[in-house]
Amino acid sequence: MTTLDLASRSTASVWHPCTPMKRHETQPPLALVRGSGAWLYDEAGKGYLDGLSSWWVNLFGHTNPRINAAVKAQLDTLSHVMLAGCTHAPVVELSERLSALTGHALGHCFYASDGASAVEIALKMSAHFWRNSGQPEKREFVCLAQSYHGETLGALGVTDVPVFRAAYDSLLRLAHIVASPDARQAGPGESAGDVAARALASLRDLLEAKADSLAAVIVEPLVQCAAGMAMHDAQYLAGLRRLCDQYHVHLIADEIAVGCGRTGTFFACEQAGMWPDFLCLSKGISGGYLPLSLVMSTPTVYQAFYDDSVQRAFLHSHSYTGNPLACSAALACLDIFKEDDVLNTNRVRAARLSRLLAPLAVHPLVKHFRQQGMIWAFDVAVADPAHAATFSRRFHALALARGLMLRPIGQTVYLMPPYILNDSEQNQLAEGVHSTLAAALQP
Ligand SMILES: *Cc1c(COP(=O)(O)O)cnc(C)c1O
Repeated sequence: MTTLDLASRSTASVWHPCTPMKRHETQPPLALVRGSGAWLYDEAGKGYLDGLSSWWVNLFGHTNPRINAAVKAQLDTLSHVMLAGCTHAPVVELSERLSALTGHALGHCFYASDGASAVEIALKMSAHFWRNSGQPEKREFVCLAQSYHGETLGALGVTDVPVFRAAYDSLLRLAHIVASPDARQAGPGESAGDVAARALASLRDLLEAKADSLAAVIVEPLVQCAAGMAMHDAQYLAGLRRLCDQYHVHLIADEIAVGCGRTGTFFACEQAGMWPDFLCLSKGISGGYLPLSLVMSTPTVYQAFYDDSVQRAFLHSHSYTGNPLACSAALACLDIFKEDDVLNTNRVRAARLSRLLAPLAVHPLVKHFRQQGMIWAFDVAVADPAHAATFSRRFHALALARGLMLRPIGQTVYLMPPYILNDSEQNQLAEGVHSTLAAALQP
């Protein structure tokens, strides 16, 4: 079967996510046959450097020998068992190790398979906590402008990205939306901290008026990724924690994209010196191998459900909850973090790649060149509206032609590479970005 066969058969039978399918008539999906390290290969053997970690999940490369070995060993031991009434070593060990990474501040892990489900769990758990605590009227949620928390109906209700929400608005129970601390809003002479303080003031007004009916505020710490890598000052998170404490409202940290070392620390919240009441993880936690998500919560939350009664128990389940293969991949990732001192080696890697990308900061058509840990982003000012509307697609295609997998969000180009790029791969990535941008800006 040729790649072309695979692409056309795919559009006939596979309904691709996040895609107007008719577009595949002119731009068929890229059929990939294998992956190795930071590279994906098509049937002709052409390699593509995976500059976005396969939708932000792949931390340590494709077919990583250590993760492969762990999953293969688990495959021959126990592939799956239900987590109601049963347990197994991989899920216990993963929960213990994640808890330890928070100094046991978040000592209870509840499992699911995808990010949106983790968000739903955190929302349900928060509202149920208040119900169990005799305050059932606390059941509304607050999210930030331009936040993204997933695309199931519950998660869309706390999402403010029009492209994902518009068609489904009438089906949703919408959250209160407060100002985003997106540092790009800084006016002349203003700092990111000033923008954060302003956003906190608007949240305080809402809490002051509504705290009695609010269960939780949900936030993507440090970077609102799906909005186009909107970054904010860590002071915002510290202030958010203080406000939530003051007004007795839960804080849910959605670290699905920013957790697992992506922002420079294992958890993004560490940079604000605080822990949320609920922390959602998914995406990178299994190294991009198997669907896995989880919600970590505090002993206080856990205690509110600790009872014999079914009504007080947290009632939520997914068939593949706590799947042992997925947990074994996650454990292998935690081993790699430790054995390779990943957070520190990433610092060196990030500093080098930042130097290679630095010319973008002074490019006449580039605005807001920014970086946080292993995320780089910049906004491109394309004047002609027609040209602007197709910028992302053109950039994507031009990058592929250069052996690079990149997919801008609107006019925001971003890099979210796996944590394994060597010097030569970093050079290729940076040169590829410069040359793709030059080509994409041609009228
Ligand atoms: C991707 C993402 C989700 C949703 O995760 P899925 O596994 O795609 O359902 C939720 N929140 C954030 C911040 C994300 O980046």
